[in-house]
Amino acid sequence: MTLDNGVITSLQEQLLEWYTREQRPLPWRVNPSLYKTVVSEFMAQQTKIKTMLPYFERWMQRFPSFESLAKATSEDVLKHWEGLGYYSRARNLHALAKKIICMDLAPQTAEKWQLLPGVGPYTAAAISSITQGLPEAVVDGNVVRLIARITNDCRTFKNNANAVKTMTPIAIKLLNHTSPGEHNQAMMELGATHCTKTNPNCSQCPVKTLCLASAQGDPQVLPRINRTATRSVTVDRAWLENKNRLLLYRHPANAHQLAGQYELPSLESLGAKAPNDKPLAIKTRAITNKRIKERIHSEASLRDQKLSYKSKHQWICFERINSITLSGPHRRWVKEFLEKPKHN
Ligand code: SF4
Repeated sequence: MTLDNGVITSLQEQLLEWYTREQRPLPWRVNPSLYKTVVSEFMAQQTKIKTMLPYFERWMQRFPSFESLAKATSEDVLKHWEGLGYYSRARNLHALAKKIICMDLAPQTAEKWQLLPGVGPYTAAAISSITQGLPEAVVDGNVVRLIARITNDCRTFKNNANAVKTMTPIAIKLLNHTSPGEHNQAMMELGATHCTKTNPNCSQCPVKTLCLASAQGDPQVLPRINRTATRSVTVDRAWLENKNRLLLYRHPANAHQLAGQYELPSLESLGAKAPNDKPLAIKTRAITNKRIKERIHSEASLRDQKLSYKSKHQWICFERINSITLSGPHRRWVKEFLEKPKHN
């Protein structure tokens, strides 16, 4: 499609009209504030809106402002992020709050927003357009998909980053300079609610008459993006109890990921090898392009091995487990195991 001015204007108008009428009543859109937008943008990175909603509500109750967040301890912050994953977002948000409260004025350009912790081009464009009305185009996976389909762009992109880079000039061209924040939110909202990866809801789409891929009949195949190969990793872990206490491993404060958080100890950290016995449980999960299999072994199956305890291994009373920060999947498994009668 040639994106001539007539097409661009129609697209902007139809999008805005639809967004004004149909936008979801998300909590950060009710009495909006810079703080709510910043928190919601950090939480929405790598996480679906539906998943983050209860976290957002809980977060706002505990940390209602940049000031309250800045004053909180790292432990408290991580505890309120527990279960959302990608904890560097929580640490960056905490660091950003500490910086913002020392400023007379919040950053006034997207470039300046990017000088704050955890703020990349996407988040800077979202915050500055939504809260300050700056003409910055937001380009995420939803926007890439929407543009590729509207323009019927059948190119194959090397990866997601390449697709974002290629689509950015088009997103800038499409940007509504009168209402950049609403326009960006409308693009993302349409990608999330109608122009979904599979089964796009073209019949109800507000820009259907402008969409080339829909007219050609198979929008679902777009965008074409080469997927990064998936890696498989296996981690063996131990379930060790002693007098109503559970052995956990605490990641050091300077760990790249999971800093300060607890997990079931890996056999590697205990200087042990995976036994031949059947594990107590096998759990699998996927993180971006990594498939992780975690095998949890009982004390009985490790009986023949000498375990080497280090300072990062801590015996935690069962009653204290709820008050420490466990990584999300480990929280679920620990709960599941503690609710079972006996494991050895
Ligand atoms: S018409 Fe269909 S493919 Fe085109 S933008 Fe709308 S939902 Fe997406």
